[in-house]
Amino acid sequence: MSTTLALMGNPNSGKTTLFNSLTGSRQHVGNYPGITVEKREGRLQINDLDVHVIDLPGTYSLTAYTQDELVARNVLVNDQPDAVLAVLDASNLERSLYLVVQIMELGSPALVALNMMDEVRRKGMTIDTNRLSKVLGLPVMDLVARTGEGKERILEEIYSAIKNKVERKPLRISYGHDLDEALDTMQTIIDEASFLDGRYPARWLGLKYLENDEEILTLGQANPEVHARLREIVRQVAEHCRQTLNMEPESLIADYRYGFITSLLKDGIVTRSSQQARYDLTDKIDLVLTNRLAGPILMFVIVYLMFVLTFVLGDIPLGLVEDFFGWLGETVEAVLPEGLFSSLLVSGIIDGVGGVLSFTPLILIMFFFLSILEDSGYMARMAYMLDRVFRIFGLHGCSVMPFIMSGGIPGGCAVPGIMATRTLRSPKEKIATVLTAPFLNCGAKVPVFLLLSAAFFPDSGASVMFWVTLAGWVVAMLSAWLLRSTIIRGEATPFVMELPPYRLPTLRGLLLHTWERAWQYIKKAGTVILAVSVLLWAAMTFPELPEERENHYASQEAVIEAQAWDNEDDKDLALSNLENDKSQETLQYSLAGKVGTALEPVSRLAGFDWRTNIALIGGFAAKEVVVSSLGTAYSLGEVDPDESGKLSERLRNDPHWNIWVALSFMAFVLLYAPCFVAVVMIAKELNWKWATFSVIFNTVLAFGISTAIYQIGTL
Ligand code: GDP
Ligand code: MG
Repeated sequence: MSTTLALMGNPNSGKTTLFNSLTGSRQHVGNYPGITVEKREGRLQINDLDVHVIDLPGTYSLTAYTQDELVARNVLVNDQPDAVLAVLDASNLERSLYLVVQIMELGSPALVALNMMDEVRRKGMTIDTNRLSKVLGLPVMDLVARTGEGKERILEEIYSAIKNKVERKPLRISYGHDLDEALDTMQTIIDEASFLDGRYPARWLGLKYLENDEEILTLGQANPEVHARLREIVRQVAEHCRQTLNMEPESLIADYRYGFITSLLKDGIVTRSSQQARYDLTDKIDLVLTNRLAGPILMFVIVYLMFVLTFVLGDIPLGLVEDFFGWLGETVEAVLPEGLFSSLLVSGIIDGVGGVLSFTPLILIMFFFLSILEDSGYMARMAYMLDRVFRIFGLHGCSVMPFIMSGGIPGGCAVPGIMATRTLRSPKEKIATVLTAPFLNCGAKVPVFLLLSAAFFPDSGASVMFWVTLAGWVVAMLSAWLLRSTIIRGEATPFVMELPPYRLPTLRGLLLHTWERAWQYIKKAGTVILAVSVLLWAAMTFPELPEERENHYASQEAVIEAQAWDNEDDKDLALSNLENDKSQETLQYSLAGKVGTALEPVSRLAGFDWRTNIALIGGFAAKEVVVSSLGTAYSLGEVDPDESGKLSERLRNDPHWNIWVALSFMAFVLLYAPCFVAVVMIAKELNWKWATFSVIFNTVLAFGISTAIYQIGTL
């Protein structure tokens, strides 16, 4: 049986030298069929293996820019060699790894020979071959091709790779938020159509479309329908990149690949003697920003400043928007005749949706800062620094991005966060990440904390938000650790993460990214939340009070009216008290009221009354609904003419609420079951068993912690 070994590498990396040394005299030189690129082939015997060796033309990349690159790539794809030996000039590791990464993205069975080790030693550098092998997940061997040093080891590794028929999954690098999303979509389309007969890995094809690879684009025309769809996706995302980053997808891809390599080589895989060290600007900035000691401290300061600024800047617009909705509610109430319609409009829609929309100014500002962190490249550094901490808890460096996206910095969302766990290669680390990411402070929970800090901790909004966010992290990490040391125990896998170069964000890009996020939030308020608010309003309104109770209140009212009052104010007070009792009873009699009341014996332990229960149940549908249904529950329950429409004031003055209830409530909202959409996402990424587990686990944990807070606080 004959097997094939392909040699690949940059020009002048020593391929031919190695090739000659491997094949001795058993070689011949020809041309590739139809083209004049030199083809060297030879034979090599390793024990019982007869190996056909091909020395591919030297290339820097596998994009079909040159004929050499095309030849090299087609050999990998069409001939499917049993092993691919990448020959690297070890004294120029970054550049050589750029090619290796692309071989890995193609899923070829690669091995790496670090050639020119004599040069490396002469320059006073050292390379930690074992570490490199571990982070790459490939065998890596030292070599001096000119003298043959290291050749034996290479022969052994080739032998064992071919004998064991190693299969390599195509490497998956994250190319940043925008491109990843496009790649995911393209991957689905390609897989479903088994585009180009499934010869190429789907994600790789997507990348080639993004890179405008001429050969692949020509091949793709065989399936005009899929081709057109892919082109359209590329057109859109390219337009987006141009607008936001002022970059073409191609250069963005190259940036991320180099970023991936930079991070591979961090932490002392390569050490240079001091006079040899050279740094570019990004390296210089990173010396400070990712410094072992200063880095984490600066990260803390930067995030904290972001909170403070958000609140300082957001205070005025927040008040204005709140006042506007308060005014709108009162006006509608005054204009419309009392009745079901007015109640639907004011209690259901204006209070509900308005409660959510009032937070738009703050959320806009927060999203703006988030976009700065992301577009500048600093967010990737945060992930890089946090990796060291993550390992302790059984998570992976690749868990950091899903965490940050889920709300590690407030304003995220667990749905894309859970989707981002696809970069995790180890299934156990993925499960742990998916299950714990929903604990973070997502954009839908933010309004709840804003509301409660306005009500109970005025003037410390920023610190409340900061500590709640931190609490989300702590619980996520601790439960990850708990899960990873019990039901999903297993090995940790090595970490590699992209560190793109620092870039000055463009204002246009920041505004666009901010607007995209904010628009999603507003759209949700206008659709899902509007629907849930109306449903909840109905559940809080029907069934209506029975005839007999209505009559009771009517006659009571008549009694008050008939009485001789010395003072008009006393009469008004009596009437409004009666009105309050009636609304209270109406709400309690409604479907939602009955459910909330039924749960009260248990929820009391954590300090929640039946109206709070209604809001929490609504929150299962979408967390934003917690605020809106609190608004609805409290405006239905009380009609006090002297009180302004502000929900935070209502809560502050409500006898059922105090600081301990507020804290317990915040803990519960932060931690309890993920929203419905996130649960569906968990089921999609893992399965329904884990999705169910997450609902139960999170709710039980949340209730335990809330009960502890409330009980200890009110002792
Ligand atoms: P190719 O372009 O990849 O085929 O590279 P070649 O095999 O032609 O080698 C390019 C140059 O590097 C030649 O001058 C080789 O003698 C030299 N070379 C190859 N291997 C080594 C090595 O391990 N150490 C040193 N110092 N030089 C090497
Ligand atoms: Mg050569």
